[in-house]
Parts: sequence; C-alpha cells; structure tokens
Amino acid sequence: MLYHYEAQVPMDIADMKAAVTGPKLPRGRNRELVLEALRRADRPLGAYDLLRQLSAEGLRSPLQVYRALDQLVADGAVHKIESLSTYALCADASCGAERHAVFVICTRCGSASETHDRALDRLLQRLARRQRFRTASTTVEISGLCEACADG
Ligand SMILES: [Zn+2]
Ligand SMILES: [Zn+2]
Repeated sequence: MLYHYEAQVPMDIADMKAAVTGPKLPRGRNRELVLEALRRADRPLGAYDLLRQLSAEGLRSPLQVYRALDQLVADGAVHKIESLSTYALCADASCGAERHAVFVICTRCGSASETHDRALDRLLQRLARRQRFRTASTTVEISGLCEACADG
C-alpha cells in the first residue's frame, strides 16, 4: 500500500489544508481540475497525463496545465518530483517551507509516498545556513524499489 493518500490522511486534503492555511486554498477552475485529477490518481502524474485526462473538461494546452501546476506548487498543495517530472498531491497539511518533503519513489511501478523527518529537517536547515542560503523549498527524492516490487 503505497501512495494511498486517502489511507494516510482520512480527511479531505483540500479541506484540511484550507483549515490550516486558509487563503492558501487554490482558486480557479483549472487548478481545481488538476487537483481533482491528482487526488484520483494512485501515483504522481506528469503534465501530459493530466492534459490527456482533462482534455474533455476543457484543458487543451500544456501551458494551462503547467500554469495550474506552478500555482499549486507555490500554494504548497502539490509537490513536483523532479527526477520523474511528475506531480504529487501533498500528503501533509503541515508541509511548508520549513519542512522538507521526502519522497520514496519506486522506479518499477511508479508509486511514490511522502514522508517527513524532524532530524532531517534540522540537518537540511543547518546545511543551508552554512551556505548562507535562504531555502524556498526542499524535496528529497529516494529512488529504488518498493516492497512489493522488490519481492516480486
Ligand atoms: Zn508535502
Ligand atoms: Zn513498486
């Protein structure tokens, strides 16, 4: 069981984020559509997967999808997984600039799950400070095989 955000987070994520972050809740129809598609997916989706799924809803150009995704990433509702060029719904309402999302990504089945670690947060903050760097966001990506794929 990987990447089942519903299982990890019983509350609706958008509601929860709204409760925590208030005005950070994304507005705009395209953003809502993209958010809804990511919520339905059982793995991170690329911009073109989203475009294919949402073309019937009126999203026709990659630019519309990228613009919606950029806004959702800026809002903290969605994370970009750089190594796969895909996007995943944030699984943790307390995720923010001070917290660092860690994704474990299965290179065989494409599942990804988000996790956090306080000690790693502190370590990454210390490393950034040492470089006199003001961090906007950090995503740590660990690639490999999930338990099911490693066993199979
Ligand atoms: Zn997150
Ligand atoms: Zn796997």
